[in-house]
Amino acid sequence: MMLKIVSLFLIFMVVLAIFGRLRLPGFGGKGDRAGGLPKPKLCPDCGRYNLRGGPCRHCRNEQG
Ligand SMILES: [Zn+2]
Repeated sequence: MMLKIVSLFLIFMVVLAIFGRLRLPGFGGKGDRAGGLPKPKLCPDCGRYNLRGGPCRHCRNEQG
């Protein structure tokens, strides 16, 4: 009875490890690291970086 539980647990852990390796970037591919951080948002008006995503402070300053 215990062997069955242990084997099931081991299989479960192996499946979890496989899926985790497939999902996590950086293990297999040696490409660019563009997968970690989200793309920086650019203001459509002035084209500068707007990291907060709200109203652009550059445009605010220019408009007063
Ligand atoms: Zn702007």
